[in-house]
Amino acid sequence: MREIEHLNLYNMASIFSRIVAGEIPSYKIAEDERYYAFLDINPLAKGHTLVIPKQEVDYFYDLDDETLQGMILFSKQVAQKLQAFSGCKKVATAVLGLEVPHAHIHLIPMNSEKDVDFSREKLNLTPEEFAEIAKAIVG
Ligand code: AMP
Repeated sequence: MREIEHLNLYNMASIFSRIVAGEIPSYKIAEDERYYAFLDINPLAKGHTLVIPKQEVDYFYDLDDETLQGMILFSKQVAQKLQAFSGCKKVATAVLGLEVPHAHIHLIPMNSEKDVDFSREKLNLTPEEFAEIAKAIVG
């Protein structure tokens, strides 16, 4: 029985792969063949976005060099959209990965260090607010 549970765990697609597959809804910001960007559901700031490779790898630095390079360039394009949307000083880039075992980059509109304190209480946005933010960013 324990062996079966173990197998299931390893065969289970990550929550982020399920988002890419459309099995779990998300507020999409950008997509190409290899990467997907969507709003973080517990945002530190309006426009807080996650960028993921479609390839399911847990640890960011286990990604192959080419995927990692492409992911940074894809993130750059998303960051430019976020900055235009929020008028923030800069877009912070953070990699944690303690919660979801699928490599991802947090892009967070930032005006001060406090805006990227992950221990802070997150914004509580309605589905309508998330949808409006995504629409404004995508343009
Ligand atoms: P971490 O793995 O520590 O970088 O944190 C994972 C991030 O993914 C957190 O900021 C969560 O709010 C976010 N997250 C988890 N599930 C979802 C989801 N279904 N849609 C959007 N963001 C999510």
